[in-house]
Amino acid sequence: MAQSFDVVVIGAGPGGYAAAIKAAQLGFKTACIEKRVNAGGKGALGGTCLNVGCVPSKALLDSSHKYIEAKEEFAVHGINAENLDFDVTKMVGRKDNIVKNLTAGIAGLFKANKVTWLQGHGRVHANKRIEFTPNEGEAEDIQAEHIILATGSEPIEIPVAMLQDDIIVDSTGALDFQAVPKRLGVIGAGVIGLELGSVWSRLGSEVIVLEALDTFMPMVDVQVGKELKKNLKKQGMDIRMGARVTGTKVESGEVLVEYSDTKGEQSVVVDKLIVAVGRRPYTESLLAPDSGINLDERGFIHVNAQCQADAPGVYAIGDIVRGPMLAHKATEEGVLVAEVISGHNPELNYDAIPAVVYTTPEVAWVGMSEEEAKSAGVNYKTGTFPYAALGRAMAANDTTGFFKFICDAETDRVLGVHIVGLQASEIIAQAVIAIEFGASTEDLQLMTFAHPTLSEGFHEAALAVDGKAIHIAKKISRKRK
Ligand code: FAD
Ligand code: AMP
Repeated sequence: MAQSFDVVVIGAGPGGYAAAIKAAQLGFKTACIEKRVNAGGKGALGGTCLNVGCVPSKALLDSSHKYIEAKEEFAVHGINAENLDFDVTKMVGRKDNIVKNLTAGIAGLFKANKVTWLQGHGRVHANKRIEFTPNEGEAEDIQAEHIILATGSEPIEIPVAMLQDDIIVDSTGALDFQAVPKRLGVIGAGVIGLELGSVWSRLGSEVIVLEALDTFMPMVDVQVGKELKKNLKKQGMDIRMGARVTGTKVESGEVLVEYSDTKGEQSVVVDKLIVAVGRRPYTESLLAPDSGINLDERGFIHVNAQCQADAPGVYAIGDIVRGPMLAHKATEEGVLVAEVISGHNPELNYDAIPAVVYTTPEVAWVGMSEEEAKSAGVNYKTGTFPYAALGRAMAANDTTGFFKFICDAETDRVLGVHIVGLQASEIIAQAVIAIEFGASTEDLQLMTFAHPTLSEGFHEAALAVDGKAIHIAKKISRKRK
């Protein structure tokens, strides 16, 4: 007899594992199918995010940041850090340990919540039947009341730069370099390309980023993007815009990268090349022809606002469906679907999903950019405030960047907040709360923020929307009686 469950989740990334835990917490007999095995050949939970994405990249960003701070900033604080050195193998090993601990933590959560972890591959047929092929053993049928698809995404490969050994690599390979490449090429100035480029640039690589588009980070507010680009260039990153890679050749352990830009055909030679040209939904071998589940024109599983796919009782979440490819978006969709299955009617506010780029300076935003407000025809007002005017930023010796608000000029409602600077990734949570609660600029203006904190910049930028910022010099014309 086929095993049967109330809920079967396929994929144990931040979308799938959260959905499985939530479903189990809501009282459903739940299983989660995951095929990933780690370098030691053991089954691994946590998906892209924990194994080869968010967490390992942040581990290396933090290590390399500590190094560059010690090298370039400590002297200002009166700290002598001469003869500074680092060990890449140890750094990468520390990252591997974090991954190991976190993925084991998810296994612990599965156990505590009585989620059955089925190690192997899942494929969906009609009538909520799943063909489960274990990593070891014979295929078997599993019957589910509800199915949640959470199989994530994979890096896009381009024929002009196919992966080769450990020389032309994707983001996963770039997290595992065992030595600092002298010259490092990065194709794509997206979030992943800039974050990984930053890691190796801080550790001493000459980094050349080739980006086909003329616009830097088109999803980011233009003013913010300019600030980021200026700072990355200052750090030594050579960012070449309008540079479309047309070919690569690996010879004697080096890569010749050919690209075209406005000046014509160009080339550059590097020791390693990271291909970071985006990710695509991963649905390989997931859907049997009779599944009744449809993809949209871009290859994502077609779902409605509550993540219901076209077959009854089947849901899809995370990177395999429309919306930003972000771990926290996947998690919230996972929780939402478990709630839907239990008979609730939750909603996810896609306008209040924050995004972060973990470069130096960090960039974080939520809601509309100025360009989006403009093109939507919104009558908006903006307010900005620089880190340079914050005592806390001066104390930290990091005064780069600014806070920016986009607010509705008629209703005063906060539409978007953009931060480029120290701890932007943490401060943005305040903007998420403001947008979720439909805060007006005035609401934020009337609140008290602790001093001295970086969050005071968030407050001052809200005040600046109406020309009321305190800690910034502004010429005023005094009205005389
Ligand atoms: P995934 O995490 O991709 O998990 C899907 C899982 O399903 C995989 O483990 C896969 O093995 C499994 N699977 C697939 N098909 C099957 C099948 N048929 N049967 C069984 N199992 C299957 N996002 C952020 O929010 N913040 C960040 O800082 C961030 N940094 C990133 C850095 C890098 C280098 C990368 C690559 C990504 C980063 N992301 C970040 C994106 C984030 O990792 C993804 O958005 C997130 O992992 C998507 O979650 P998911 O649950 O949809 O899928
Ligand atoms: P993202 O999707 O945000 O990770 O960004 C990937 C970036 O790679 C996009 O900005 C693309 O324009 C860029 N890109 C894609 N193909 C090429 C190519 N052949 N040469 C240079 N850049 C590319």
